[in-house]
Amino acid sequence: MSETRHNWTKEEILDIYNKPLMELLYESATIHRQHHDPNTVQVSTLLSIKTGGCPEDCGYCPQAARYHTDIEGNDLMSVQQVKAQALRAKASGSSRVCMGAAWRNVKDGQEFDDVLEMVRTINKLDMEVCCTLGMITENQAQRLAEAGLYAYNHNLDSSEEYYKEVISTRGFEDRLETIDNVRKTNVTVCSGGIIGMGEKVEDRAGMLVALSTLNPQPESVPINALVAVEGTPLEDQKPVSIWDMVRMVATTRIIMPETQVRLSAGRTEMSREGQAMCFFAGANSIFAGDKLLTTPNPDVNEDMEMFKQLGLNPQKPFIKKMQPETVEAQDSQYQALGEKPKWTRPEHTIDRNEDAKQKAKVLK
Ligand code: SF4
Repeated sequence: MSETRHNWTKEEILDIYNKPLMELLYESATIHRQHHDPNTVQVSTLLSIKTGGCPEDCGYCPQAARYHTDIEGNDLMSVQQVKAQALRAKASGSSRVCMGAAWRNVKDGQEFDDVLEMVRTINKLDMEVCCTLGMITENQAQRLAEAGLYAYNHNLDSSEEYYKEVISTRGFEDRLETIDNVRKTNVTVCSGGIIGMGEKVEDRAGMLVALSTLNPQPESVPINALVAVEGTPLEDQKPVSIWDMVRMVATTRIIMPETQVRLSAGRTEMSREGQAMCFFAGANSIFAGDKLLTTPNPDVNEDMEMFKQLGLNPQKPFIKKMQPETVEAQDSQYQALGEKPKWTRPEHTIDRNEDAKQKAKVLK
């Protein structure tokens, strides 16, 4: 049985990533079988509870207010709307709902109180609840934990070096701080990244160093392939090859054996054979539903047909960790402190982000 190490170096990770493919696959599939059922894959549903209008400048994101994209923004969904969507997701085989809000950070107030109520509601449906709401403080993380949150998603996106080429409105260390705040609670950590943003293989390895040296390692690591959206600074990036995806999944599996590796954005570009290779390499989760926040994703029926063809079973909820209890708002020991997280403002300039912003101004 392979052991979890927290001292991986970039060189070691690059050696793994660049192995002859058959050796890489054999090694990752072997480790995968030691720690997980190879025929079980978790189906998660990603729900955009508040779309668009984000003040950040992430170069890949159509929800950034400063770029001109086709995204239709909406205000925060109601608890009832979210419950209806969660029930639909459960009926179609999802065991986890991930709610995403296009916020820089959480602010204490009515909207956050509503999100806490959404967490309580979905946890009571016996589904794993994950949130991705931007930066959060320790107290906000505690309030989410009390509501019954199972996981908090906060991606590192890329290596610390390449992060500066993609985002200028916050720093890599801000990401680590939010992850650290989540770690002070019982909520599990979901953190991964995106490949195909123009980064080098060294940056992919650098991101995996940052994730694998966290102790404990994230319980969940999404690997996304960039979906280049017109109007964003990364609109001209070429789609990432399936071989890169397979190598990335296999390497992630080898260095983070216990983690749930999530095959996330970019699946519409992958053939069924390509996805099967990713499952063999160690991916054991997908996002279901025809949209991933705002970008296209395979339809649920198509995924269920793929599962049947490959003999895969959807994972039941709370297999890896017990279901958290939900504390009602009136019994909560953590109250709103009227705070918001502090973050660094690197304020450096990224030419392609500036160009996309200027282009948007002309079009608006
Ligand atoms: S990725 Fe998140 S933080 Fe960045 S612009 Fe999009 S919604 Fe905002």
